[in-house]
Amino acid sequence: MTAPDLLERILARVDALRPVSGFPVVDEIRAEADRIAAAHPDRVTRTTIGASRLGEEIVDYAVGEGPSIVIVGGVHPNEPIGFHTALALLRDLAEERGPAAELGGRWHIVPCIDPDGARLNESWFADPGDRIGYARGFYRPAPVEQVEWSFPLDHRGIVFDDPMPETRALMGLMDETEPALIVGLHNGELGGVYYYATPDLVGAIDALHAIPAHLGLPLDRGEPEFAGSEPLAEAVFPELTSIDMIDALEEMGIDPTPHVVSGGTGDYGRLFGASAFVAELPYWSHPASDDTSGSGRSYREVLLRRAEELDELGAVLLRALERAEPHLAIDSPLRRGATAFAHMMAGSGDEARQRAAAPESDREATVAEAFSNEDHPRMFRLRFGTMLARTLRAEVVAGTAAPAVRLALADLETHLEAWYREADAHQETLEVLPIEKLVGVQLGTVLAAADAALALRAPGAPG
Ligand SMILES: [Zn+2]
Repeated sequence: MTAPDLLERILARVDALRPVSGFPVVDEIRAEADRIAAAHPDRVTRTTIGASRLGEEIVDYAVGEGPSIVIVGGVHPNEPIGFHTALALLRDLAEERGPAAELGGRWHIVPCIDPDGARLNESWFADPGDRIGYARGFYRPAPVEQVEWSFPLDHRGIVFDDPMPETRALMGLMDETEPALIVGLHNGELGGVYYYATPDLVGAIDALHAIPAHLGLPLDRGEPEFAGSEPLAEAVFPELTSIDMIDALEEMGIDPTPHVVSGGTGDYGRLFGASAFVAELPYWSHPASDDTSGSGRSYREVLLRRAEELDELGAVLLRALERAEPHLAIDSPLRRGATAFAHMMAGSGDEARQRAAAPESDREATVAEAFSNEDHPRMFRLRFGTMLARTLRAEVVAGTAAPAVRLALADLETHLEAWYREADAHQETLEVLPIEKLVGVQLGTVLAAADAALALRAPGAPG
């Protein structure tokens, strides 16, 4: 358990975070981290650990002594809450203030591991409260181009051995530091707070519940992202690794090959016996997100409706893609992402349908479950519909769009406008959460997880 006096100091630290209105862009992240390092040359070691595919420097800022704690920001470049968290941690450690500096450990902070991907999202960073503006500027890399999900893998016939430069930079850092704890700074989108952790961090669970409660943020009580995992505690799920997901999917009788293509940070971290922690935080909450009362709807029907909506989305995306693809002239990360997600959506109803068929789905859905199953397809429509439209529009802008591309785009835009209208009508039921509170939950829970991970490695700790 997190010691009560440490928890007090963590809560005091997160309460002191100043209000912020948006997220820093890549140049601002770099400038601020470099400014902190330059102001504390005796404490902060700045090391270039690699370069992005477009040639941007990837930097590790290391502070402190002891077992290594690796903190990685922007692992999904559409998830910028961690940019603030990484900078706040670096500032605290450099200035020797707050609980971070007391915990010990050598902290390696990589504020932005995927600068190329972050730049493709920057258009919405100034106003993340607007879900439509966010959707219009949204970019998420194809799975094999996601830093945390492009590690080597060789399990049950699924083989991947082509990590991109950003992932190789992180592998190099992990090889060199053999981390006690690795933290990817992720965030979700809508709902409540939830976590992934290796089971050895069980000592931090009280703090993982206390910190969002203190800041007034709900836990997420809806559908887990990956249905194959039993939670360690409320809203705390076991770390996701590709190996575990492949095994679980096969056990459910689902072919894992379209879902899992490469290894995760967790798979690689296991080589070092690293603990792992992720805090997932939303930009918006909804009163249904933590409502465990009965919805009056059958859980089975909720799942079947989700499957139908995902099928419909997959069909719209694939139709546009198949029409346009033979004529596309520009290869880009957006195109690779949009293509991968269109195919992924087309098969993604199966998992919900499979679960609907199980006897244990013959029960009433909670309000939270009904809501998250309804909102996931909405989120995917906004995200992946827009990414495909951006891909096709890029051809129009560049003067390379054949008539088939323009037709595919016009058809897709019709759907997209309807999806935006639907999401817009829904927006007023959402509460936009103050960013500093989201950063507070991430910063506070990372400190609690670090405390638990360091306690396991302390001399004399039970082995
Ligand atoms: Zn993520």
